[in-house]
Amino acid sequence: MKSVPTQADFARREREFRHRAFPAATAADWEDWRWQLRHRARTATAVARVLALSPRERRALAAPDAWRMPLAIPPYLLGLLAAEAPDGPLHRTLLPDRREARIAPGELRDPLGEEAHQVAPGLIRSYPHKALLLATADCASFCRYCTRARTAGRAGADLAAALAWLRAHPEIRDVLVSGGDPLTLGDAHLERLLRALRDIPHVELIRIGTKIPAALPQRVTPALAKLLKKFRPLWLSLHFTHPAELTPRAAAACGRLLDAGIPLMNQTVLLRGVNDDLDTMLALNEGLLRLGVKPYYLHHGDLAAGTAHLRSTVARGRAILRAMCGRTTGYAVPHFMFDRPGGGGKVPLGPAWTSS
Ligand SMILES: *Cc1c(COP(=O)(O)O)cnc(C)c1O
Repeated sequence: MKSVPTQADFARREREFRHRAFPAATAADWEDWRWQLRHRARTATAVARVLALSPRERRALAAPDAWRMPLAIPPYLLGLLAAEAPDGPLHRTLLPDRREARIAPGELRDPLGEEAHQVAPGLIRSYPHKALLLATADCASFCRYCTRARTAGRAGADLAAALAWLRAHPEIRDVLVSGGDPLTLGDAHLERLLRALRDIPHVELIRIGTKIPAALPQRVTPALAKLLKKFRPLWLSLHFTHPAELTPRAAAACGRLLDAGIPLMNQTVLLRGVNDDLDTMLALNEGLLRLGVKPYYLHHGDLAAGTAHLRSTVARGRAILRAMCGRTTGYAVPHFMFDRPGGGGKVPLGPAWTSS
């Protein structure tokens, strides 16, 4: 099994990439999450300047009108892309594909019916006791299979009405703060939001859904860890999809959050040609445990418009999970879930020992 690269190897490879791709950047720039966000690759030119690409990738990059959502890749992630071959697994998750323009039968712009379940701008309520707060529509990087491609990169909602709704609804005990990625917000903004939620007596559990430890681990500064620590019990749901994301920087970011007493869970999407094989799933989930992260959900791909080329099959997911049970520690096995179209909620698909 492939393990996390050693700190020294990783640091050398990252430095070489920085010198070649961003020669004006200092080591301090590279450590600075705001520098990383400002220097995200957002165009075909910006990507082609620093990465070797396949003809297929070049064709897709040259047709931005066919993209299902904007392009954004921070320099840190470009460095990980540069370490794999064109068309590699991380390339598939971050670079546009011509097939994004094809809408398969049953696919929807709003696959989870979130617009129908919106109780205030940026607040989705699909379950009796929990609510989903969309704190921003920006992410450090946009995943091509995003379920919320329709809003990716737009301005986030003003959350005053959402917070007022939560204050008025004591049945809501669990708030999942997501987006977009809430950790792309600055510390002061994030602190105001968490304070407002913590001040609602009936909100017992606050969770944050974030890809930051995978996409931009530099964001997990000592100040951020200290800030989050004040709002415990606070849980983070991370989003690692492939073992190549388990870098020493990602490990350090997770370690810092764990040191602050924040439990870490992970949600992965089962993606065709990215992680839908046993070896990759074992390496990902065992690697997450080594970082102190519990694999929580493995999602079968939502029926989001233009994602059929990345969606694997339920049968494949079940076969992988069956093979994992017994071969690895039970902690490494996530729940396999499908979020029903239209907002019917999540249903478990496994692991199960039956073959249906
Ligand atoms: C997934 C989801 C949640 C959280 O679900 P858990 O199964 O408790 O992790 C909450 N609200 C919405 C709308 C969701 O889609």
